[in-house]
Amino acid sequence: MTPIILWFRKDLRLTDNPALTAAVEDGAPILPLYILEEDTNNPWPLGNAQKWWLHHSLSQLNETFLKLGGQLFLKRGNPQEILGELVKTVRAKEVYWNRCYEPYALHRDNYIKENLQSLGVRVKGFKGNLLFEPWEVLNKQGTAFKVYTPFWKECLSKLDVQKTLSKPKKLNLYNASVLNENLSDFKLLPQNPDWSLNFYEVWQPGEMNAEKLLKEFLDHRVHEYTLKRDYPAINGTSRLSPHIHFGEISVRQIVEQLKFSKEFKKETGDEVYLSELGWREFCYSLLYHFPELPERNFQITFNDFSWENNDANLRDWQKGRTGYPIVDAGMRELWTTGWMHNRIRMIVASFLTKHLLLPWQQGEKWFWNTLLDADLANNASGWQWVAGCGADAAPYFRIFNPVLQGEKFDPEGDYVRRFVPELRQLSKQYIHKPWLAPTEELEKGEVVLGKTYPYPIIDHGKARQRALQAYKNIR
Ligand SMILES: Cc1cc2nc3c(=O)[nH]c(=O)nc-3n(C[C@H](O)[C@H](O)[C@H](O)COP(=O)(O)OP(=O)(O)OC[C@H]3O[C@@H](n4cnc5c(N)ncnc54)[C@H](O)[C@@H]3O)c2cc1C
Repeated sequence: MTPIILWFRKDLRLTDNPALTAAVEDGAPILPLYILEEDTNNPWPLGNAQKWWLHHSLSQLNETFLKLGGQLFLKRGNPQEILGELVKTVRAKEVYWNRCYEPYALHRDNYIKENLQSLGVRVKGFKGNLLFEPWEVLNKQGTAFKVYTPFWKECLSKLDVQKTLSKPKKLNLYNASVLNENLSDFKLLPQNPDWSLNFYEVWQPGEMNAEKLLKEFLDHRVHEYTLKRDYPAINGTSRLSPHIHFGEISVRQIVEQLKFSKEFKKETGDEVYLSELGWREFCYSLLYHFPELPERNFQITFNDFSWENNDANLRDWQKGRTGYPIVDAGMRELWTTGWMHNRIRMIVASFLTKHLLLPWQQGEKWFWNTLLDADLANNASGWQWVAGCGADAAPYFRIFNPVLQGEKFDPEGDYVRRFVPELRQLSKQYIHKPWLAPTEELEKGEVVLGKTYPYPIIDHGKARQRALQAYKNIR
């Protein structure tokens, strides 16, 4: 019997995988395939930190297939060419996948579909990565929502969580020899220098680990989500974002377990948590309907905004040397762990775009290469939201004061102490504004401003005035 090719992309799991379930139901042997894309014109190729995650996630997925008596086939190159050749070699009559929604991926998949169909191959796409297809949730005029609240209200009115698809216990896997590549040949792990060493202490990629983490979050932490989610020193959020991005767990699984594993409690974190998944749906809807979102201002009035061009400031921000401890802690958390707390993402993004007046795209790019959860829809929307030029964005004049934000959301200074160790001996009174600390405290804490830790690269008050003026000029 000829095999069905099951092309894995951002769905590196067996549970609740609609393309896999459909392939199992068809009864033909399944050839699971992952293609590392090379030689394509994808403007947003895999970010550097994500290569580390992908390596381990693929390795876990392959282990799962080995236990089921098969393997994950790995290929490198142009998917169009690889699939075209593979269907001929194994005489496949069907190719299945779960849909992706990035502009490049939509274009690629359409092209490949047409091509395979012209070879007599049946291609089927499935909804495996979202609760709703972006074209399923529209306003009364039949167009895309531009504001989150009515969008999510509409989603909730349609949300009918059925039991998710279970993981097949047995699989009929294709085993004939196909020229396969080794995962190590993908060269996804960083070398010289290997800056991913800390990732191993913080993260455990793979479907099984995603399920464990979700269970732990739902059993112990979701009820305090509303209370704790804004405090970066506390483990108050789910930290599922890289698992969700790579599809090691589906959002349907999360919603199902959230709603059905116990009585769903509206007043606690459950509903707020659900609404964060709603933001993800909203970002995907925006990206689908406004495919230029990663590159261009959603609000075109911002096209005349006069951004600065200052490489030195950009480098200080990237390296966590701005002299504002909460910003620096965030940028160093990102570099050392491949992740950053949501509250801190907002603070550092506000600092880049409003204090330094650097274009949001520069921050977006840095996040793209350093975040393990880098996601075109969420990242572009997040940056545009903070910069004030996005859909339903934060008002431009809301300019975070990094000292007050630090004092409010890291009141003991523990988060700063963890990631900016040169300030760890300062008291909570000065840890967010070391330049105001008395000399004795600095000496006792072995802090030499301008030497062991920088002075602020820009004065908050002046930066605020400058940003407001720049905004006034485009209104
Ligand atoms: C400037 C900026 C850039 C961002 N870039 C990304 C990115 O590249 N990838 C990414 O997944 N998220 C991004 N976010 C959104 C958010 O910061 C992360 O999803 C969140 O911090 C991940 O941690 P968590 O899994 O513990 O989140 P939780 O609070 O546990 O939330 C659960 C899930 O909901 C989704 N989610 C939560 N908040 C948002 C949000 N504001 N927008 C969209 N989805 C959300 C994520 O999938 C997240 O894993 C960005 C936010 C900002 C302000």
